[in-house]
Amino acid sequence: MSLFRTLDSADVKGKRVLLRVDLNVPMENGKVGDATRIERVLPTIREIADKGGKVILLAHFGRPKGGPDEANSLRPVAAAVAEHLGRPVGFAADCVGSVAASAIAAMKDGDVLLLENTRFYKAEEKNDPAFVEQLAALGDIFVNDAFSAAHRAHASTEGVAHKLPAFAGRAMQAELDALTLALGSPVRPVAAIVGGAKVSTKLDLLGNLVKRVDILVIGGGMANTFLFAQGKSVGKSLCEKDLADTARAIIEAAKAANCRILLPIDANVAKEFKAHAPSRFVDVDHVAEDEMILDIGPKSIAEVETALAGIKTLVWNGPFGAFELPPFDLGTMQVAKTAAALTQSGKIKSVAGGGDTVSALNAAGVVDQFTYVSTAGGAFLEWMEGKVLPGVEALRAK
Ligand code: AMP
Repeated sequence: MSLFRTLDSADVKGKRVLLRVDLNVPMENGKVGDATRIERVLPTIREIADKGGKVILLAHFGRPKGGPDEANSLRPVAAAVAEHLGRPVGFAADCVGSVAASAIAAMKDGDVLLLENTRFYKAEEKNDPAFVEQLAALGDIFVNDAFSAAHRAHASTEGVAHKLPAFAGRAMQAELDALTLALGSPVRPVAAIVGGAKVSTKLDLLGNLVKRVDILVIGGGMANTFLFAQGKSVGKSLCEKDLADTARAIIEAAKAANCRILLPIDANVAKEFKAHAPSRFVDVDHVAEDEMILDIGPKSIAEVETALAGIKTLVWNGPFGAFELPPFDLGTMQVAKTAAALTQSGKIKSVAGGGDTVSALNAAGVVDQFTYVSTAGGAFLEWMEGKVLPGVEALRAK
């Protein structure tokens, strides 16, 4: 049984269903650019509409200053949702009050309506009780399909979930299942790969992971701080020297928790931070003063691949190197392909997430070959940090 209430137990027929979705899509000249977020919520919209529910879409868009503003209106997004859905989608120019109420009153079972940007009200982000009541008055049931907004306790993500019977939509359910598989109750041994630029942005993440995984692979610029903390010279590399003590504490915490830490043993180094800069592979003990580490080297890649061959579950956030600048994408591409192949052959389950990680896996052409790839940046990281996500907690089966 799922740990969360899902659409399986929701009776939506003839009901007004407030469906929180993430429609914060990139716009280019008034048209939706990448429609991934729209695509993800279509199954939930279709399912509720096909079961005879009235689908009332609630969403935020951009960062309006707390009042209506045309540049952040969801109106053009309603047209894009209709196009992808292949059905009409109505639009109400307000998310609460009489405009919303009369648009909803005119709906027939199976209709779909998008309400205007919830962030046109400051009360949304404040989770203001009076605003929550206004939203809740518009529906009989609440369904949340916006995992990417679930780390925020806002009126439309958390408040309203306590006022109406609340359920996870199918995209939310898939995300929660994947994250449970990766870190909640994973099949062991489980490894985590954490890369990216800086240790300082991932301290909570590392602190949580050492307690939960069997192998922690550290890559990217942040590995340099760990190498420096072990007394190695990292030349001109990106390195947070003031965090050397913190890095040593993480290594100690890992030892105490029986978590093996893998750091790079060799690297691709260059004198300039640019694509196709002349570079060489070198052991991490021999980085020259005028060089910087921009990727892991072949020995490190082989070591990570050997580690992956012995695990059952992988969770990944952050690239191994400056992957936007070839050839410093090699480590990330190579390990991504290996993880994808292990997943495809049924040897491991793999879950990855975070903005740069998704771009890197896209560049490697393996997004579809991982068990699950989360596009929810902040919410995915907070889950990996072991934090409670208010929008998710409100859906937990009691
Ligand atoms: P993050 O947002 O923390 O996941 O960091 C991703 C960024 O880290 C990417 O833009 C990479 O180019 C950068 N990065 C990874 N490894 C290195 C490195 N060795 N030196 C400098 N930047 C790096």
